[in-house]
Amino acid sequence: MAVSQTAGPPELPLRPELRGRTPYGAPQPPAAHRLNTNENPHPLPAELLADLGAALGHAAVELNRYPDRDAVALRTDLAGYLSRSGSEIEPAQVWAANGSNEVLQQILQAFGGAGRTALGFTPSYSMHPIIAAGTGTHWVDGHRREDFTIDAAAAAQVRALRPDVVFVTSPNNPTGTAVALETITEIYDATEGVVVVDEAYAEFARIGTPSALTLLPGRPRLVVSRTMSKAFGMAGLRLGYLAADAAVVDALQLVRLPYHLSSLTQAGARAALAHTDALLATVDAVKAERDRIVAALPAMGLTSVPSDANFVLFGHFADSAAAWRALLDRGVLVRDVGLPGWLRVTAGTTGETDFFLTALAEVAADHGVSR
Ligand code: PMP
Repeated sequence: MAVSQTAGPPELPLRPELRGRTPYGAPQPPAAHRLNTNENPHPLPAELLADLGAALGHAAVELNRYPDRDAVALRTDLAGYLSRSGSEIEPAQVWAANGSNEVLQQILQAFGGAGRTALGFTPSYSMHPIIAAGTGTHWVDGHRREDFTIDAAAAAQVRALRPDVVFVTSPNNPTGTAVALETITEIYDATEGVVVVDEAYAEFARIGTPSALTLLPGRPRLVVSRTMSKAFGMAGLRLGYLAADAAVVDALQLVRLPYHLSSLTQAGARAALAHTDALLATVDAVKAERDRIVAALPAMGLTSVPSDANFVLFGHFADSAAAWRALLDRGVLVRDVGLPGWLRVTAGTTGETDFFLTALAEVAADHGVSR
């Protein structure tokens, strides 16, 4: 079915800030190798699939009833997972929703909204400003350094703007850049607003890159958001979550829809969490492919941004749109994130990386420029 991509005919009384916008979504042309949306390419373990079938079947028996509105059992399991990394997280500090996008939306519904401002450091996850627009929150683009890192200058921007919500994406999408914990504490100390550290890709970080979870004690305005869409390989499940002070979780109850998380989602997520080790066993393989991509680039006259995520921002291209097209012509779909000179590729399986690197060697010869 064709879906209209316009923001609606002009006669509709659409909110002015939504007029002329197009819906978010990467182009999805058919391609043999789809390396454009940062999914985990590995199939789910067979024993999880068996347990999932049983768990969903069990939950289905009670589908005439509303789900547990507070998702207590799931939040307990998520707290258990987060506590494995050494930061003691209580179930009351955890909240879950349909993807971390919904978690972020609920944060802006509660702490942003009309008359309030959110700040992020561009380029970053492009849904942050879109969720801001959807919740009527004024969005301000902050700046990164030339190498895409952020440092004390980011805290200075926060101090000058006095935003109600600050987004720090670490590792950052689309650059893969992790943010030092000192920078996060400087940003926290520079504001009275809520600081959201979007850690969708945290599990892929290189050894020695700590999580902002360690900063939660004593910081009641700090929120760390996570997802099962990436490292857990469960993008289709739609399960995102956060850890924060329990008072933040209480505040989100004011804006969440009742029963927002279906019984099937809760059961599926719990079944997956029971197989955490098997699921996360793929993370090292993905990181190895990421590092293989990074290592192969210089011989092609290309470069990359240091990545702590499951993707690589690579360039430079004289015309990144033309390079994107040339890769697609060779069967590889990557993401043109709108940064002149750069493209983003998701680290896939070994076979996908082989295919990508072969195609890229040809494309780089025609389109690559070093600078
Ligand atoms: N944060 C970041 C930085 C992302 O890149 C994404 C997905 N691409 C999300 C959040 C949202 O993921 P999900 O809603 O699937 O949890």
